[in-house]
Amino acid sequence: MIERTLSIIKPDGVKKGLIGEVIKRFENKNLKISAMKMLHMTQEQSKGFYAVHRERPFFESLTEFMSSGPIVVMILEGENAIKMNREIMGATNFKEAAEGTIRRDFATDIEKNIVHGSDAPETAAFEIGYFFNRFEIVGHSL
Ligand code: ADP
Ligand code: MG
Repeated sequence: MIERTLSIIKPDGVKKGLIGEVIKRFENKNLKISAMKMLHMTQEQSKGFYAVHRERPFFESLTEFMSSGPIVVMILEGENAIKMNREIMGATNFKEAAEGTIRRDFATDIEKNIVHGSDAPETAAFEIGYFFNRFEIVGHSL
């Protein structure tokens, strides 16, 4: 099934100069970019995005980190895009991430792990709507 998912290159990924590298990995796996922009969130915007994690002990630190610098927000479109993106990213903890994944190759910290990716159709819909309106999204096959 062709799906859309939200991807973010986090502040650490942008600082390390990994925008091109991350995008290349998505394109190599046939994920198409349907929308893309660079922005710098306030901590309030970051808290809204990560609202599902508001009870977690790392919420304050995570939202501070996510608003610490510019990020690249993208919609990826393709066959099983949600799962495919998660596979390309690797496990949350880079120490557990499979070889050849973005997090295994570039993350240095469980929090500063280079990329975000939606984990289910419902979260993808919420997260896409958080950053993009329908005039900002192009369709490749959707
Ligand atoms: P994922 O990004 O793989 O979907 P989660 O949704 O569980 O992971 O967590 C969201 C983000 O919160 C992670 O990508 C990471 O930046 C941060 N995070 C998750 N678990 C921890 C933790 N135990 N300590 C610090 N930060 C964490
Ligand atoms: Mg998550």
